[in-house]
Amino acid sequence: MNMLTIKDNLSKINEEIRKTAIASNRDPKNIMLIGVSKKKDVNTIQKGIDAGLTHLGENYIQEAIQKIKIIGKEHACWHFIGHLQSNKAKLAVQYFDYIHTIDRFKLALEIDKQAKINNKIQKILVQVNIGKEESKSGVDIEDTIELAKRINSLNNVSLKGLMCMPPFSLDPEHSRSYFKFLFELKKSINNIKINHLSMGMSHDFKVAIEEQATMIRIGTSIFGRRN
Ligand SMILES: *Cc1c(COP(=O)(O)O)cnc(C)c1O
Repeated sequence: MNMLTIKDNLSKINEEIRKTAIASNRDPKNIMLIGVSKKKDVNTIQKGIDAGLTHLGENYIQEAIQKIKIIGKEHACWHFIGHLQSNKAKLAVQYFDYIHTIDRFKLALEIDKQAKINNKIQKILVQVNIGKEESKSGVDIEDTIELAKRINSLNNVSLKGLMCMPPFSLDPEHSRSYFKFLFELKKSINNIKINHLSMGMSHDFKVAIEEQATMIRIGTSIFGRRN
């Protein structure tokens, strides 16, 4: 049994973010903490918000919408971080401030269309399949620059950054080379709007911060284990 509260977990993580950022010569303010609340109920999420969490990440559209309808869009900034099917683009645009998982032009095009209908500029990130894993979504590394270019031609989406999930390993050091690679890939796109790197989860967020992450996505260490 974990006796620590969500508030305790958050203070601990915020302190670790601060320390790691400073040790890496970075301003902790440039690191956005996204609390990943998939499979957690509304009460649990509300505790996170009450403890100061301002960004929340969800993976499943239907589950997320049910929760966002209750919690409200105004109490947190909502990030979609799960795999997105084109036929769910409409809902993602209606409910989410950021979509991290754009990995094909067809999806970007649909998001652009829906954003136009909703009279908004949708903030998106391109997910890169950094570990070349068959089982994971994400655009192939060698197709990333071309996808970013095509996305830049769209009027109602704004490409804010790149996102990745390295192959899982218990050793956080294993993620470092993948994070470094995403940083270099972002540099090679050289577009000033693309300033975010969404990388790092509960087990490897410190390494991600050392490697220039600006958005870290943490679930377990804030909300506890998922069933
Ligand atoms: C679940 C999830 C996370 C959070 O993982 P934890 O290990 O619980 O911190 C981060 N990013 C994505 C894309 C996820 O699906």
